[in-house]
Amino acid sequence: EALFAQVPLAPPDSILQLPIRYKADPAEKKINLSVGAYRDNEGRPWVLPVVKKATEKMLNDPGMDHEYLPIVGLPEFTSAAAKLILGTESKALKEDRVVSIQTLSGTGANHVGALFLSRFYAWNGPRELYISKPTWGNHKSIMTNVGITPVEYPYYDPATISFNLEGMLSALSAAPERSVILLHACAHNPTGVDPTPAQWEKVADAMLEKKHYAFFDCAYQGFASGDLDRDAAALRYFEQRGVPMLVCQSFAKNAGLYGERVGALHVLCADKDEASRVRSQLSIIERSEISNPPAYGARLMAMIINDPELFKQWNADIKTMAERIISMREQLYDILTKELHTPGKWDHITTQIGMFSFTGLNTEQVQTMIENGHVYMTADGRISMAGLNTSNVRYFAETLDKVVR
Ligand code: PLP
Repeated sequence: EALFAQVPLAPPDSILQLPIRYKADPAEKKINLSVGAYRDNEGRPWVLPVVKKATEKMLNDPGMDHEYLPIVGLPEFTSAAAKLILGTESKALKEDRVVSIQTLSGTGANHVGALFLSRFYAWNGPRELYISKPTWGNHKSIMTNVGITPVEYPYYDPATISFNLEGMLSALSAAPERSVILLHACAHNPTGVDPTPAQWEKVADAMLEKKHYAFFDCAYQGFASGDLDRDAAALRYFEQRGVPMLVCQSFAKNAGLYGERVGALHVLCADKDEASRVRSQLSIIERSEISNPPAYGARLMAMIINDPELFKQWNADIKTMAERIISMREQLYDILTKELHTPGKWDHITTQIGMFSFTGLNTEQVQTMIENGHVYMTADGRISMAGLNTSNVRYFAETLDKVVR
């Protein structure tokens, strides 16, 4: 008898199906806005010039070898990554009570962070973790995989296409004390809607009031605004306010190192003693899961962050990406509102930030975009702004215009 006869067929990943359909579509005019990866103005993947330079430098280093990294990663990488995200003013860093470990990009940081909490967090009741509605699709699966139940808090208001502060605050105050709250540090995926600094203050107040724990996911530092510090401002502010937290950090988008899986998890501890206990347990988790992390991307990022010249170049490359996306938002907005006079309000196109924009289109309208317009986007109405460029933005706007009329 077949040993896996009872295995049910799982549905395919709904997002990753779209590029396959796009590829098979014979239409001459077609656009793929489904996947969150940066594209240049010609629609091609972009290797950052700084990454090319650092790669050359690394390959020419006669001391380069392929030995294992330490269990928790390359120390020059993890310490640079911590400074990059928490900032030079971080009290926790100055007091040497941050545990930083290298992870398999942002996904790995989320996983190890969640696994660590599932084992060691001082849970007050059931193992539940609050995620925004909506959120990155993988958050639910990552939490469920380690035995944590994801619970949704209101975040996005479809009626106004904006942040639902009141809804979020009442959920935070209704949650049991010491709940774990997942927050997108910047460029919320999938909505592109972030709290303003004044709204973050209110969220921090509510977190402190109920002694909640912040699980910060930061996948877009620098990529959102073009400025590494500005995109880390919310989580740095939370640290200053004394909200207990961990931070998941990814270098997939801001360094274009998607496939190299470069990331880190930072756990801010109460003191040095707690930090050494937390480090010892994270080390055991890391050892049993991956033995030790991959070297190539971590070496590149350590070089790029620690070398002043490369760091400067990286900041310029980040600006190139962020500014291209911001200018596509402006062009799209202008075509819709000034040329086509498309019905509806489109301010959200320019106020949203980062890789994605929530257009406000419903599932049916998305179907029409795909079937009649050959514009591929996710069913929730999300588009990846990075898929737009000067050659296709007009066609996209015209297709959108027809669908909402
Ligand atoms: N978290 C969020 C919110 C994301 O949008 C992503 C990527 O799309 C990730 C984490 C993780 O990405 P990666 O594992 O490629 O770093």
